Amino acid sequence: MSTPSGETRTDETATSGAVLEVEDLVVSYGARIAVDGISLRIARGKILGLLGPNGAGKTTTLSVIEGLRRPSRGSVLVDGIDALRHPIDARARLGVQLQSSGFQPELNIEQLLRLYAGLYGVPLTRTAAREALDGIGLEQEASKRLKGLSGGQAQRFSLLIATLHDPLLLLLDEPTSGLDPQSRRSLWQRIEASRRRGGSILLTTHSMEEAQAVCDRIVIIDHGRIVTTGSPAELIATHRDDRRVRAIAHGDPTLEDVFIALTGSDLRD
Ligand code: ATP
Repeated sequence: MSTPSGETRTDETATSGAVLEVEDLVVSYGARIAVDGISLRIARGKILGLLGPNGAGKTTTLSVIEGLRRPSRGSVLVDGIDALRHPIDARARLGVQLQSSGFQPELNIEQLLRLYAGLYGVPLTRTAAREALDGIGLEQEASKRLKGLSGGQAQRFSLLIATLHDPLLLLLDEPTSGLDPQSRRSLWQRIEASRRRGGSILLTTHSMEEAQAVCDRIVIIDHGRIVTTGSPAELIATHRDDRRVRAIAHGDPTLEDVFIALTGSDLRD
């Protein structure tokens, strides 16, 4: 199957409707295996939560999908495009929430917005740029640099940039960490809006409550391997009678009880 820009998609994914298919991914840092045979699949319009303790391999997995790191084994298809062979074409379909340090420090946020709109090929007049900043409560901050914004304001700005081109797949690495409840809610409204426009989302979070509330499916990983996968309700139903879950649950088991029971209560590096 051929895309409008002429790249070749694999027939299998072109017909399966998956926005992301990661197969048997292995990633090493020197002798250390950080990701050890992970496979993921996300259908259009779905939110997949990648959960795991510190050091489990979540960020490393995302960095391969983003094209920042090469795996030693495995495949990554974004909308049917082989992301390892055609990283630029795959990247055009992704929205990635950059950290503040990833933006040009000398530009103010209105200039950054117009720069990224230009890079993504999204027409944005000065008025439209102001309206977009107004939409995330930052119109008064247009002439400030990112370092002059609060953590919540910077996160909102970064999500605006990541969704400017209506990406097929949004990659969010702990999008709400450090945010107050108001900022968290506002961010989730924007993420939900992206999903309503047909976008899919792959996110990492350490908040089990958040994962339970927003994810269609969850993959729990540990030491670079998949421990279990399913919808939040399936994970609880499947593991509720596990003696490790029963030992820590107070009343009805929660996703957090399942997570801790399956990944252990030891602290990680
Ligand atoms: P966290 O929840 O703490 O962000 P994570 O699940 O995102 O953790 P990764 O950052 O992917 O985990 O790390 C997976 C493993 O790879 C860890 O053992 C980590 O120490 C190691 N690692 C990560 N980045 C590097 C690097 N640049 N060089 C060497 N080892 C690394």
